[in-house]
Amino acid sequence: MSAVLKLTPNVVSSTNALFPDLKTRRQMDDYVGDRLHTAMNELVARPVSPTVELGTFRADLAAMDFQDSHSFEAAVDWMISGLGEGMVHMASPGYLGLFNPKPTFPAEVGDRIAAAFNPQACVWSHAPLPVEIETHVIAAVAKKAGMPSGSGGHFTSGGSEANNTAFLCALTRAESNYADHGASAFDGEPRIYISDESHLAWLKIAHQSGVGRNAISRVPTDGQGRFDAPKLKSMIEDDIKAGHKPVMIAATAGTTNAGMVDPLKDCRKIADQYGLWLHVDAAWGGALIASPDNSDVLSGIETADSVTIDAHKWFASTMGAGMFLIQNPSFLPEVFNVSASYMPSNEETIDPYVNSMQWSRRFIGIRLFLSLLIGGWDSFQDHIEHSLSLIDRLTEELSKRGWTLCNDSRMAIACLQPPTNGPEPGEIVETILENGTHWISAARFEGESVVRVCVTNYETTELQIDDLIEQLDRAAIARR
Ligand SMILES: *Cc1c(COP(=O)(O)O)cnc(C)c1O
Repeated sequence: MSAVLKLTPNVVSSTNALFPDLKTRRQMDDYVGDRLHTAMNELVARPVSPTVELGTFRADLAAMDFQDSHSFEAAVDWMISGLGEGMVHMASPGYLGLFNPKPTFPAEVGDRIAAAFNPQACVWSHAPLPVEIETHVIAAVAKKAGMPSGSGGHFTSGGSEANNTAFLCALTRAESNYADHGASAFDGEPRIYISDESHLAWLKIAHQSGVGRNAISRVPTDGQGRFDAPKLKSMIEDDIKAGHKPVMIAATAGTTNAGMVDPLKDCRKIADQYGLWLHVDAAWGGALIASPDNSDVLSGIETADSVTIDAHKWFASTMGAGMFLIQNPSFLPEVFNVSASYMPSNEETIDPYVNSMQWSRRFIGIRLFLSLLIGGWDSFQDHIEHSLSLIDRLTEELSKRGWTLCNDSRMAIACLQPPTNGPEPGEIVETILENGTHWISAARFEGESVVRVCVTNYETTELQIDDLIEQLDRAAIARR
């Protein structure tokens, strides 16, 4: 580490170290703000990937037995300089990787405000304002997605929790005894349909929900990473014949690998035909609702029984902010209701803890709320369209240079194959990571190895994309 943790014992008493007085707090806040802004400013010139010397770091860490106290400044310096070296930087404009965003400034500030007040948002009576704000934001997002009025939902820790919520709703609706008896309530094994390109969190969700991973039927894709609708239908029919119990279709709008959208309208028809719950997992791609010229890509999402959209992906909130949207929110208590005598309940309002998976609840929604309040939908439209235009720039130029764009997506994600006879995509990605200015990934799309580039950071510039194009091209012809 460049910053060694200095043994500067705290001069204040130990409780004041944790709960400093107002004047000290203000000074400390200024100190942190100053250090943070400097560190963020320096990120642009830093390698995107971790550079930390792990041996030294682990020795430093091993020496911390928490018997000595340290000054606030020394600890903060060590922490900020450590993070500067010890992680992949999604706040760097060269990060063109997974769906992790550089957060909007209002979102970052929202996190800080929520931390200071630390409301307990599990129950309305303890945090009326936070609960009503979250409900309002969820309704606004559902409306923007075209869902019927009356749709609702709640904030979650992320897409996995939102998908898990959908899973529990679908199982409970299909068999009301599931709540008490679990999987054994079903006469026949429950089946949930995802595509081969769906997010693998579904497997963990099936495990957690007690129906087991075998309940997940993975439907082959159509050559472009989407549900093969006729295949989906025939698998459902085969399952019914075999005595299984189809429960839910979990379509994806914006696959993790390639930004592909399942045929949502076909999925709706099939779900209706067999009485299944339709969930649309739009954890990343759902943000396209903010771009009127592109939201048609999601057409059909408005007919879903429930939808996942992460605030902490393309909506650029800080980590740990997902959204679960549902057409019929009054169904949620059937899944999550309990009566706890010690909880200060109120007949007229909705308490999050009996409508969602979490109990103690952070004021998660403040981050998207402040972003929308300060920037409006327009600012997200700019942000989304900026990402789209950068990806177009990249794919157009690389196509001219003999690269092949494999995924026919209208989202800001490109799965590319280099010209033949050169290094493999995996090797090319390694070269880029070694160069240090950008972070991209190797992936597989429809059985092929590809170089995957995804724009999530509003501060990524055309110059940085042009630089990446040159680096990719050089890496691809390295041994031709
Ligand atoms: C990211 C993602 C998830 C998982 O969401 P988390 O927020 O990481 O829990 C699920 N589905 C899709 C399509 C995703 O992109």
